[in-house]
Amino acid sequence: MTFTTDSSIDAERQAWDAIVVGAGPAGAMAALGLARAGASVLLVEKFDFPREKVCGGCLNGRALGVLDSVGLGTVASQAGGVPIESFRLGQGGRAWNLELPAGMAVSRGPFDQALVRAATDSGASFLPRTEARVASPSREVLRVELEDGRTSRTVEARVVLLATGLSGRGIPEWARPDARITPGSRIGAGCFLDATPSDYPGGTIHMAVGRDGYLGLIRLADGRLHAAAAIEPSALNGGIGPGPIADRILSEAGFPSVAGLREARWKGTVALTRQTHPLGDHRLLILGDAAGYVEPFTGEGIAWALESGRAIVPIALQALKRWEPSMVDQWGAIHRRLVRRRQSFCRAAAIVLRRPVLVRAALDAAAWIPGATAQILQRMNTSRPLVEAS
Ligand SMILES: Cc1cc2nc3c(=O)[nH]c(=O)nc-3n(C[C@H](O)[C@H](O)[C@H](O)COP(=O)(O)OP(=O)(O)OC[C@H]3O[C@@H](n4cnc5c(N)ncnc54)[C@H](O)[C@@H]3O)c2cc1C
Repeated sequence: MTFTTDSSIDAERQAWDAIVVGAGPAGAMAALGLARAGASVLLVEKFDFPREKVCGGCLNGRALGVLDSVGLGTVASQAGGVPIESFRLGQGGRAWNLELPAGMAVSRGPFDQALVRAATDSGASFLPRTEARVASPSREVLRVELEDGRTSRTVEARVVLLATGLSGRGIPEWARPDARITPGSRIGAGCFLDATPSDYPGGTIHMAVGRDGYLGLIRLADGRLHAAAAIEPSALNGGIGPGPIADRILSEAGFPSVAGLREARWKGTVALTRQTHPLGDHRLLILGDAAGYVEPFTGEGIAWALESGRAIVPIALQALKRWEPSMVDQWGAIHRRLVRRRQSFCRAAAIVLRRPVLVRAALDAAAWIPGATAQILQRMNTSRPLVEAS
């Protein structure tokens, strides 16, 4: 699949209605919605596409529901997604199995590419291999510097949506948003494995919990095993890489070892928490992981990103007509309702996972009260209706 690049988009174009920075699920979804509403949109991405990203790649029912609501119900399967039916959790030599109401495993390279394609098909322009930096504001526009490693130029937009992921890159110095990272947050790491044992069949998220963190394994459509972990920073301090730590987590959980896991080429992330406040400034709104993130244990990050990308569209369209400073707080309130409140369950899970006794107690309780577990799963997998900006 090829993309519209700098040479074939309107290269001379200086002024856009909206510039969306970051082409992950949040940015692509926002660009899609704005383009469909008739706005001129430039979606800028630092990397060439498709690019992989450290992520378990599990879409829950909520993520699939948001995609369906915008007519992209088949995008995950077209991008090579495989259905997920169950979640197997291993800790201390015991294993628990949960049936999942819905889900699909994707590889982020083709999945994110398919979302960007949907945005460009709807009229958005896409500029890969380009880093965007929000520069000086003026009353009517924001200037954005576009740097592709060889050249740099400045364009402007009436509204800029920052969807730059966990690192939250690109918040300009003049802007108020500040990010709080919880000290001691776990670090993310991921890799793909060609050598795959039959111990890890497809259709199941295999989650191993150990002292140094947790590791999810999922089989992709092409047969590879995808590993994604959240690791205690103290475990990495001794200079041990993610491979041996992941291997230790599997062994502590009582799961079989995976050939090649120790030596695999792992990619890491920054700390896995982020709380940004406020969610924007003059003509600037922040969404997706850049707005706030908690650990990936419940596999909801893509759903949050898609949902925020969908929900920001009405408020961004209003901003195009007339910018009001109160829009930042308005967006903050919508984001709190849609995403931040739901992150509290994930935050609680992250605390429990640090205490093996609590993990066992929680799982034993879940086995005794299956109705409660089903209700939690149902909540996590249900997408909220579209929110109109008031
Ligand atoms: C170990 C791990 C496992 C996970 N597993 C799951 C899972 O199974 N299921 C799930 O739902 N979620 C999971 N997540 C979370 C999920 O990956 C994220 O929540 C999701 O990708 C957020 O989407 P986003 O669009 O906000 O950001 P991203 O997907 O991170 O996209 C941001 C994009 O912005 C680009 N960018 C950054 N700065 C600039 C710039 N200045 N100019 C241009 N481009 C820029 C980046 O290159 C990137 O492509 C996991 C995360 C981790 C770390």
